[in-house]
Amino acid sequence: MNRMSRRGVIAATAAGGAALGATMARAASFGNPDSPPQGAVNVTNPQSLTIPGPHDSGLAGTMPTFLDPPPTDVGSMPEFWASFNLAQRRIQDGGWGRQVTQADFAISSEISGVNMRLSAGGIRELHWHQQAEWAIMTYGNCRVTVLDAQGRPYVADVTEGDLWYFPAGLPHSLQGLGPDGAEFVLAFDNGVSSEFNTLPATDWMAHTPPDVLAKNFGVPAEAFKNIPLQNRWIFQGTVPPPLEDVRNAMASKAGAPEFPFTFSLAQAPKVSDNKGGFVQIADSSNFKVSTTVAAGLVTIRPGALRTMHWHPNADEWQYYLKGTGRMTVFDAGPAANTANFHPGDIGYVKKGLGHYIENTGNTDLVMLAVFRSPRYEEVSFSNWLAHSPPDMVAATFNLDPDVVASFPRGAPDMMPE
Ligand code: MN
Ligand code: MN
Repeated sequence: MNRMSRRGVIAATAAGGAALGATMARAASFGNPDSPPQGAVNVTNPQSLTIPGPHDSGLAGTMPTFLDPPPTDVGSMPEFWASFNLAQRRIQDGGWGRQVTQADFAISSEISGVNMRLSAGGIRELHWHQQAEWAIMTYGNCRVTVLDAQGRPYVADVTEGDLWYFPAGLPHSLQGLGPDGAEFVLAFDNGVSSEFNTLPATDWMAHTPPDVLAKNFGVPAEAFKNIPLQNRWIFQGTVPPPLEDVRNAMASKAGAPEFPFTFSLAQAPKVSDNKGGFVQIADSSNFKVSTTVAAGLVTIRPGALRTMHWHPNADEWQYYLKGTGRMTVFDAGPAANTANFHPGDIGYVKKGLGHYIENTGNTDLVMLAVFRSPRYEEVSFSNWLAHSPPDMVAATFNLDPDVVASFPRGAPDMMPE
């Protein structure tokens, strides 16, 4: 058999065909749709599979699904994989930053991502910007400060699994704490945002006439004779005093903000928890200040599946923290494309497009799903079919009604249940 139809593959599999060749083995997961004739399943000449031209097998080898797409993949779609691992670091004394913005990753229109490290005492200088900043701590300890629009100061110390959210325009700072500083990932709620295009307090001061500074701050112009003439972005400072001392020193008659600007996502309740894994959610329902960003921290057990679903309200920006997996995205066309993900990688799924994630490793796969939306929302494929007219579902897919009746009805985020 040179070319396998979907029906033919099912028949061969059912017959337990002992002499399945490599091509047929690859097709054992149903084979490519009969049209268009895309995929290795259609290949009769082995030369059709080789890559004799220039290539880097080390780099290419990290993405086996690009080299050898699953037989059900079809069509093409804009690249939805990127990685901080391949982004250049801007290093200064005190830490470093690297980013993947829409300029680097065209599909990423709603979120821009930054990965940053601060040493113990390292300071990301006082600054603000036009977009909101959402962040997750991935390592160590950090102190954050922010002043809200009512003039109420906030300071908190955060650790791995904690979030912060700074609404657009609110001024803030970050500083690494002991013993080994911090690493974190920022998500700006606009894909064109750049970490290197924020508004640093130093730049404004350096580009204001000394007599204006004197009037503005009510001190002699001479007091500003040593201000830096270039912004500092990240610089090495000393590890700050205990949190309570700093909070007292920052206190205002205006009081403290009504809601905290930090949140422990790692400690958040598991909204979905079964054999396949669990999800923890932070959005404006529990992390009140986070009015433009919602997030889900997803843990997928070895062998488990993050079930087929989509999000009706926003694009999904993903950050992979632990383990290895692969995601397939489905769009009209039809198009179904798969990519592999490793720690430090970024995925992106446009609003409403179907997708699922498989854990391909022996350890938990932990990934973050971030949305430019006040609320986390998803639609489960199995839940939809379980709650549609059973006869219609059975007739549409040529399924036995008993099979339809056994579909999970609780919209499980992971399977097995
Ligand atoms: Mn910022
Ligand atoms: Mn999703």
